Amino acid sequence: MTVTLDLAFFQRFLDRATRVVVAEAARLTELDAAIGDADHGANLKRGFTSAADALAADPPATPGALLTAVGAHLTNTVGGASGPLYGTVLRRMGKILGEDPVVEPATLGRALAAAVASVRRLGDSAPGDKTMVDALQPAADAYAEALGGGDVTAALDAAAHAARAGAEATIPLRARRGRASYLGERSIGHQDPGATSSALLVTALYEATDPALCAVAPEAEAKAEAEAAAATGAEAERPAGRVGVVLVSHSREVAESTAALARALVGTGDPAPVAPAGGLPDGAIGTNAELVRRAVKDADRGAGVVVLCDMGSAVLTVRTLLAEKELEGTHIADAPFVEGAVAAVVTASAGGDLEAVLAATADARTYRKL
Ligand code: ADP
Ligand code: MG
Repeated sequence: MTVTLDLAFFQRFLDRATRVVVAEAARLTELDAAIGDADHGANLKRGFTSAADALAADPPATPGALLTAVGAHLTNTVGGASGPLYGTVLRRMGKILGEDPVVEPATLGRALAAAVASVRRLGDSAPGDKTMVDALQPAADAYAEALGGGDVTAALDAAAHAARAGAEATIPLRARRGRASYLGERSIGHQDPGATSSALLVTALYEATDPALCAVAPEAEAKAEAEAAAATGAEAERPAGRVGVVLVSHSREVAESTAALARALVGTGDPAPVAPAGGLPDGAIGTNAELVRRAVKDADRGAGVVVLCDMGSAVLTVRTLLAEKELEGTHIADAPFVEGAVAAVVTASAGGDLEAVLAATADARTYRKL
């Protein structure tokens, strides 16, 4: 069967991708609950349904315009790291497809390769880091290799197989990028949510080759939705006695708002104990040993306490209290304040022990911004 890569093809891709993301949202969120913050499915569902609605209201004229518009929507609406990453994938593809009403199979190959290169650049990620790149890179490679035979359907089928195999191959990997990297060794044994959604999206691209494949029986869809709802309703097990986190800043507002940020990013709505110790008792700028002692007591649930400090007197006060053996079971993290606080609270909330929480804060020191 010869497939024409025209606007109708890419519209089928968007329809199929949206449908699959909605049907699989609970599974993606469940995967993200194991090694992230339990929002990947919800993030993509919001992004794809909003993109599909917007494009239905204002239909694009070319395949390139369609992918560019979906990409812009994902960047704006997804919320998590996957938003700008998938946004980049689709906008880059859209740019390479240009204004052509019908895309040449080789051009689609160039677009896939360029999209993977740009996501790797943006995320500073490579195959083996346990991210979406582990599904996307093999998909782009398999497409290029299989297209040698000239059959675009076979090439997309090969890409979809490679993406699914790549996603499964993330299970034994240790995450080196994204939120899952906070868990260090504990990320091993779980499939990466972004690699899983990438495999679904590449599969949707293959399914767009055949309108019949895109048609889903209403009963199957209803069943998937019922299963999805049941999975979301299941109560996650929360271990008792989690590691506590104390945030010592010169400013009361900085300590309190960093605590609020870290709690908000936990996503499951059940953060580990976080106690801010900011400023002086009268609200002025500085560090106060008594406020630090009180915060450590507040955060201590018997599993240890990790303290994040901003600088200068905050560090010195905590180190002095530790040297005087005043704060039993308490450890200072050698990490940047905000990133370290988020890494610590997310890891502690997921049930990580003291060692895991300290390792997550140490990793936060390596997050490059350029
Ligand atoms: P967040 O992690 O902000 O909650 P999502 O849960 O929506 O965002 O997406 C998580 C997925 O994003 C991960 O499973 C991973 O595949 C992907 N990801 C995160 N950071 C990176 C990165 N630096 N490079 C490539 N992919 C990444
Ligand atoms: Mg997430």
